Amino acid sequence: MDPIAEQDRCITLVVAACDEAEALPVLWPRLRAALDMAERDGLVATLLFVDDGSRDGTWSLLQSFAREDARVALLRLSRNFGKEAALTAGLDQVTCGAALILDADGQDPPELLPQFVARWREGYDDVRGVRIAREGESWFKRVSAHLFYRLMGRLSATPVPRDTGDFRLLSPRALAALRQLRERQRFMKGLFGWIGFRAIEVPYQRAPRLGGRSKFSVWRLWNFALQGLTSFSTVPLRVATYVGLATALLAFGFGAWVVVRALLWGDRVAGWPSLMAVILLLGGVQLMALGMIGEYLGRLYEEAKQRPLYLVDTWQPAMGVSSRQQ
Ligand code: UDP
Ligand code: MG
Repeated sequence: MDPIAEQDRCITLVVAACDEAEALPVLWPRLRAALDMAERDGLVATLLFVDDGSRDGTWSLLQSFAREDARVALLRLSRNFGKEAALTAGLDQVTCGAALILDADGQDPPELLPQFVARWREGYDDVRGVRIAREGESWFKRVSAHLFYRLMGRLSATPVPRDTGDFRLLSPRALAALRQLRERQRFMKGLFGWIGFRAIEVPYQRAPRLGGRSKFSVWRLWNFALQGLTSFSTVPLRVATYVGLATALLAFGFGAWVVVRALLWGDRVAGWPSLMAVILLLGGVQLMALGMIGEYLGRLYEEAKQRPLYLVDTWQPAMGVSSRQQ
């Protein structure tokens, strides 16, 4: 088989899982059905699970899946590295063909695989699932996600598409491009947009979780949002400059006004309340600006250490794929 054709004939479903022992058994038959569908489309299909340091029965469950179906490959990380690193680890293992990224909790329906593949066949490199509805998610999560995507859209230099999660198919060349981006502060949704190429949207209904609980608490989401902002925009730093400039101008105007008032009317300078207010305001603005610089500096520090993005505990390739390829 010539290598070009081979690239067009393979697909890997990449599923990052962290403590998903409740949802995975429900999703498993649906994933297998998706593999069968891909095979009927003439593709060599693999299912790659990345166990991101699970503490429940996820790993043994995944091993039983691998025993049951020779198309399953397993990657276990040495600890929990977070979803972004787990996805990176999975995508790094995809050496042939396209990759379809799915959540392990069943929120991204594997039944849409043929639609995604059809778009890839049409020549698209980044086929992204766009949520038209989010069922079973809290009011707070929907509103905060909505606001966050709009803010990112305004601040980021490269596009971060709205209401788009990690559910997407990446073509071989998009995968190769993504592999070149080794930054530690990974905001995958931004990285997908950064690589460019031809993108198309596939609308879908985001289902509720099949079981278990979301790993993203409000605090984790907030930090994730900060990571996204600082990885893809330096606008906050510039805002600090402008806030400083505006405060300095105001202070200058106020100072001039105090002098003029004293000269013309011999007014005594008003006492300490106004002084305190000004000092506290300035102190607050300065600390905020410092904090903003700190956010970037901290990330620079992480980046400078050049640590690997993840460490692999176990790698177990799919048994059946190579034999079926011949
Ligand atoms: N996940 C992961 N590592 C983590 C957190 C989450 O691999 O540290 C996986 C998780 O198992 C799931 C996906 O990322 O497959 C999305 O997580 P979750 O459903 O908790 O997020 P939500 O859908 O609530 O945003
Ligand atoms: Mg989920």
